[in-house]
Amino acid sequence: MELLDGKKIATAIKLEIASEVAQMRASGMRAPNLVAILVGNDGASETYVNSKEKNCKEVGFDSSVIRYDAKITEDFLLAKIKEINQDDSIDGLIVQLPLPAHISVAKVVETIDHKKDVDGFHPINIGRMNKNLPCFISATPNGIMMLLDRYKIATAGKHCVVIGRSQIVGSPMSILMSLNAEPGNCTVTLCHSKTPDIKKYTLDADIVIVAIGKKNFLTADMVKNGAVIIDVGMNRENSNETKSGYKLFGDVDFEQVKTKAAYISPVPGGVGLMTIVSLLKNTLSAAKKEYYQ
Ligand code: NAP
Repeated sequence: MELLDGKKIATAIKLEIASEVAQMRASGMRAPNLVAILVGNDGASETYVNSKEKNCKEVGFDSSVIRYDAKITEDFLLAKIKEINQDDSIDGLIVQLPLPAHISVAKVVETIDHKKDVDGFHPINIGRMNKNLPCFISATPNGIMMLLDRYKIATAGKHCVVIGRSQIVGSPMSILMSLNAEPGNCTVTLCHSKTPDIKKYTLDADIVIVAIGKKNFLTADMVKNGAVIIDVGMNRENSNETKSGYKLFGDVDFEQVKTKAAYISPVPGGVGLMTIVSLLKNTLSAAKKEYYQ
């Protein structure tokens, strides 16, 4: 079994990004600039946003977090997004989800200029991804593709089972794995909560990607020997053993499944770190106007 070490790969990619940013600055260009908007004070969202800002600083980006009270109106937020869309000094904009219930996520996502949509959630970016055209790809699926690529995992002709069909992880993941691309070219099965007998599919899978948010869902009896296992799940449980006061668990029963897997990503230390690096990559691409003028 080989660990898909997100920390190692993320560190290497961050060094590459930092070196590119240093070159940009040396040639008189400004550094990439990412703005994050955080509405309300959800603990997990606060952690993610702080981590994104810290990672931006590490690679030499400019970045800032705009914090709003949960009571702001939808109109107020949309007006702020439009203002940022017009600001040429900002390359990437993310609005941290979830949002308070009175604010429409769809409206927010569609108001962000797709050229600054480094989260890859805008319908234009999703559509272009489906057509295998250059675009911003949702950070978690893109991070997984980078992990597969760096570990040179053969995917063409393999059967990939994705469990979970969310707009930000499972659905784009299933499309990316089926595209005529490398990595890609898989035969893909997409399972969700209405799929009966998921084990029937996972037992036949060469690659299993689990993104459902259920601790230890994928057990050893569900996977075949030599499979590649990617665990996206981030299930928090309160704990006295850690400084943060919580412990993270994946969707995979890691200790048991690792005895059968050829490759497996741990939680923490796997996909989560790749997600942040993928966001950094998208922001760099936005600053370089790699996909859109
Ligand atoms: P989500 O929006 O809640 O979607 C969950 C998906 O899982 C849905 O498609 C749901 O099916 C499916 N599902 C739920 N229970 C199931 C079951 N028992 N059997 C089969 N399918 C089931 O979740 P998400 O945003 O994709 O996140 C999934 C997990 O990944 C969470 O733990 C989240 O914290 C984590 N995550 C991690 C990262 C990272 O960077 N590592 C990034 C994003 C998310 P239906 O559609 O039928 O309801």
